[in-house]
Amino acid sequence: PSVPDLEALQHEDVARRLPVPGAESDKYRRGVVGIVAGSARYPGAAVLAVSGALRGGAGAVRYVGPAGDAVIAAHPETLVHSGPPEQAGRVQAWVAGPGLGEGPGVSVALDQVLATDVPVLIDADGLRALTPAAVRARSAPTLLTPHAGEAAALLGVPREQVESARLAAVRELAARYGATVLLKGSTTLVCAPDLATPIRVNPTGTSWLATAGSGDVLSGLSGALLASGLPPLDALSVAAYLHGLAARRASGGGAPIAASDVAEGLPGAWRDVVG
Ligand code: AMP
Ligand code: MG
Repeated sequence: PSVPDLEALQHEDVARRLPVPGAESDKYRRGVVGIVAGSARYPGAAVLAVSGALRGGAGAVRYVGPAGDAVIAAHPETLVHSGPPEQAGRVQAWVAGPGLGEGPGVSVALDQVLATDVPVLIDADGLRALTPAAVRARSAPTLLTPHAGEAAALLGVPREQVESARLAAVRELAARYGATVLLKGSTTLVCAPDLATPIRVNPTGTSWLATAGSGDVLSGLSGALLASGLPPLDALSVAAYLHGLAARRASGGGAPIAASDVAEGLPGAWRDVVG
């Protein structure tokens, strides 16, 4: 098959897709996002994913995992659950993976979110416990957000192969998993599973984003947009666009930033897009 056309994300397209609550909205209608993230070793990943989801317009965030104390300390508005995802209550989208580590519970939690009938975004450590068959068996959309190393592991090829042929890699992942895939890196690509839709290229990134935790903010942000009802391709492209803008704002034309600064820059980025 021929390589699909690329499409650079346009400011106006992102502006038109931003979900804005109407007068009749309540927190449930705006979208509840469930986040399965964090571990005793990596509690911060949970905090960053939750921060991205809250600044992405979620009506509420349900956090499931062992880092509830850290999450509440940083974001008291979070609904914290210590049981399994299936007991957390209804959500409109799940995000699973940031900072989960490699414990035995990871694939159990992952199987539970994959068994739901709502969109599921898998990132980071969640990607390691994933099989194409488990994703293909789902009725609702699945989204994967790997960086080059994670994409290489999913494809079973060396990382250099992904880096030297990023378009081919994102297409192959989307086809193999039947998922919408966001491949992170110096230019972020978003590819739909049907492969007929042009691959979207995000123009707003900055290399200052190459810092620990920035991907966790992106996955939470994407989850909130998904929970608000945006289709997977739009949720990931709008998230990448806002994430890049937030980083540029925080970086102020060129200075080091922390992932927390990216999350804090999101409301300003949103305002920039609305213009
Ligand atoms: P992660 O690897 O999951 O922490 O995610 C890193 C985030 O930073 C993703 O949004 C990447 O697209 C972004 N990023 C990493 N390196 C670069 C780079 N050199 N230029 C632009 N964005 C980058
Ligand atoms: Mg990551």
